[in-house]
Amino acid sequence: MKIPVGILGATGSVGQQFIHLLRDHPFFEITALAASERSVGKKYEDVVTWFLPTPMPDFVKEMIVQPCEPTLPCRLVFSGLDTAVAGLLETSFAQAGYQVISNARNHRFDEDVPLVIPEVNSDHLSLIQHQSYGDGCLITNPNCSTIGLTLALKPLLDTFGIEALHVVTLQALSGAGYPGVSSLDILDNVIPYIAGEEEKIRQEPLKILGTLSENHIQPADIRISAQCTRVPVIDGHLECVSIKLKTKSTKEDIIHIWERYRSVVQDMDLPMAPKQPIHYFHNPAYPQPKLHRNLDKGMAVSIGRLQACPVLDYTFTLLSHNTIRGAAGTAILIGEYLTKKNLQI
Ligand code: NAP
Repeated sequence: MKIPVGILGATGSVGQQFIHLLRDHPFFEITALAASERSVGKKYEDVVTWFLPTPMPDFVKEMIVQPCEPTLPCRLVFSGLDTAVAGLLETSFAQAGYQVISNARNHRFDEDVPLVIPEVNSDHLSLIQHQSYGDGCLITNPNCSTIGLTLALKPLLDTFGIEALHVVTLQALSGAGYPGVSSLDILDNVIPYIAGEEEKIRQEPLKILGTLSENHIQPADIRISAQCTRVPVIDGHLECVSIKLKTKSTKEDIIHIWERYRSVVQDMDLPMAPKQPIHYFHNPAYPQPKLHRNLDKGMAVSIGRLQACPVLDYTFTLLSHNTIRGAAGTAILIGEYLTKKNLQI
C-alpha cells in the first residue's frame, strides 16, 4: 500500500513540481493539496496557473484545495510554502505528529533540524531523534543553488579538503516562484541581486558538510563567498565557482573523483535518485541550462569548464535544475530514503 502524502503550497512553483514528480510514484500517493486562503475550497485546476511543460495530472484537477492546517489525511507532508508563512505552519504540522519535509528556509538553522542532501549527509537525519515534536518531525532541504554547489563540493572535500571558494550564480526565473519577477524587469536584463540568497549560499554548505556529533552539527571550516544574479532562463541555475583546495591535485584527478562519485542512496533503489549524481562535460561550451537541466530526471549536477586558476586553484561551472534537484526532487528523495530505512512515522 502506498503512503498517503500531502503537499503544502501545492499551487506554487515547487508545489507543481511535487505533483509532477509524485504522479505514479511507487511509494507515495497524494491525498491532500493545501495552499492559501485564496485557493482554499476550490478545485485545484481552477486556482493553479500550471506552467510546467507536462500536462497537469488528471487526478489533481478535481481535488479541493485544503487549508494548511494539520488535519490533512496523511502523516507525511512535503512543503513548498512561501517563507512568509512556512515557519509557523510547518511547526504546527510537526507538533501535530506529521513528518514535514520542507523546502523553505525558515527552519534550516534550527539546532535540531537536519538540512539534508541525501547523497551528502543522510547521517544528519538522526537529528530528528532529538526533536521535541513527539511523533512528528521536521526535516529541511537546502536552498536551490546550495544543493548543486554542495554536491559538487562533497567529493572534493572528502578527497582533497577545501580551504575557500567563491561562487557567482546565474539563477533561473522559476526560482523566484510564480508569478515571480516581472517581464519588464527581466527581459533584456540581468538582475545582480536576489534577497537573502548570498547569505544562504555562504552558510548552508557549512552545516550540510559539517560533522554530526550526537545531537548537533559541527559546521565545516570553509570560507565561502557568493554573488547571486537572476537571469532570463526559465529553469536551471548555473554557478561559476573558483576554489582553493587543501592539497594539490591535478585536473584529471578532480574530474575522475567527480565522475566516480556515488553515495549510499545510489545503491538503495530509490526512484528519485540519479544513477550518477555528477556528470562532467569536456565540451568547453557545456553545461547549459537548456541542454542539461533535465539530465537523469533533473536530479544530476552537470559540471564543465574545469580550469587552473591563477588566483585560487581551479575554476569550474556547474548546473542543476532548481525546482527538481534544487527543491521538490531532493525533498522526495529524502522521503524515499526515510521510507526505505523504515524511518517513516
Ligand atoms: P511560490 O510559487 O510563490 O508558491 C508559494 C506557495 O505558498 C503557493 O502554493 C501559495 O498558495 C502558498 N502560500 C502563500 N501564502 C500562504 C498562506 N498564508 N497560507 C498557506 N499557503 C500559502 O513559491 P515557490 O517558488 O514554489 O517556493 C516555495 C518555497 O520553496 C519557498 O519557501 C522558496 O524559498 C522555496 N524554494 C523554492 C525554489 C524554487 O526554485 N522555486 C527552490 C528551493 C526552495 P496560493 O497559490 O494559494 O497563494
